[in-house]
Amino acid sequence: MPGFELFGDQERAAVQEVLDTGVLMRYGFDGMRNGHWKAKELETALAVRMQVKHAQLLSSGTAALTVALASAGIGAGDEVIMPTFTFVASFESILALGAIPVLVDIDDTLTLDPRAVENAITERTKVVMPVHMCGSMADLKALKALCEKHGLLLLEDACQAIGGTFEGVPLGSYGDIGCFSFDYVKTITCGEGGAIITNNSVYHKNADHFSDHGHDHIGLDRGAESHPFLGYNYRISELNAAVGLAQIMRLDAFLALQKKHYTILRDALEPIEGVTFRRVPEGGEESYAFLNFFLPDEGTAKAVHRSLIAAGLDACFYWYDNNWHYYRKWDHLVEKKSLGKLPIEVREGLPDYKRADFSKSDHWMGRTVSCLIKLGWTVEEVRERAAIMAKTIEPQL
Ligand SMILES: *Cc1c(COP(=O)(O)O)cnc(C)c1O
Repeated sequence: MPGFELFGDQERAAVQEVLDTGVLMRYGFDGMRNGHWKAKELETALAVRMQVKHAQLLSSGTAALTVALASAGIGAGDEVIMPTFTFVASFESILALGAIPVLVDIDDTLTLDPRAVENAITERTKVVMPVHMCGSMADLKALKALCEKHGLLLLEDACQAIGGTFEGVPLGSYGDIGCFSFDYVKTITCGEGGAIITNNSVYHKNADHFSDHGHDHIGLDRGAESHPFLGYNYRISELNAAVGLAQIMRLDAFLALQKKHYTILRDALEPIEGVTFRRVPEGGEESYAFLNFFLPDEGTAKAVHRSLIAAGLDACFYWYDNNWHYYRKWDHLVEKKSLGKLPIEVREGLPDYKRADFSKSDHWMGRTVSCLIKLGWTVEEVRERAAIMAKTIEPQL
């Protein structure tokens, strides 16, 4: 998945152009910039690639989630349904607006279980936020049907699955709003950065204003612009956007490499009895950012993970015990630890996660091992890796 592996002349040239103009900010300074609008160009390129009307770049993927929610009018006390397996940015963005993260179980897709989502809907629910973890997607068809039935927003977190598709359209474009991260470990990177994509021009306009202090961006004098509503600063810099502009031109080449490396590894594990693979919903094609597989039980998965690391295979993860990505280690959320006082809506509305039963999620995550697919490997390295994996796993089953 990491775009940082393949970084070179195109990225350097784009950054140099920005340095040469000296305009490091995305807005204003029209006279000085010599026609360089890297953030705007990247927004156009992203909208074209993702087949949507609008893209808005932001300072991070976490900012993208926050701005997406804010742009759709989500605020204090609103409930947002999210999975137990995700990056911490999911609940951070929800809490940033005083809204309530409602955790629900995942299934063998390693993403939201639509039945668990339906059971969690209350009259305060406003959003369903599937997170397409580790290169593959939630059952978007089922989730969209639920959202239409209950009048909810479908917000896709596609940060880890850029380039995957569902029913022929890019992940992130199927729901009402999609979010991407361009941090340093994502498939393409800006160093730090993120984006939302949408076909809804109201959400887009709100995102454009909200992410820049509420500026309406009308006219040529930034100082004279009016502020239709309160905003914040979630802007990306021109330097970061320049890196991303070079990277998005390479996205399809990166995806082809990912698929090639993934396929070699998967073909080596496929014949091993006892290894099964994460389910990709019908109509979906992964981005191939990770190879995710199940072992028969938790003990075997732990042992297999340990032995893969011992065999020198880095970038293999056992999320069940990982600090960042699974609810079992989110003590700070469960115990509502914050520097200052949380909004009253959060203090009163956050479910008591100490008592929550996520045994269905545990059933899948306890058995899951995920291996990151790197772009920088040679084919020989991938083949060797595949052989070591098969040789390490097979005797343990
Ligand atoms: C990386 C990531 C984010 C947040 O991105 P940042 O750019 O690091 O803030 C959000 N969701 C998921 C699933 C991610 O992997």
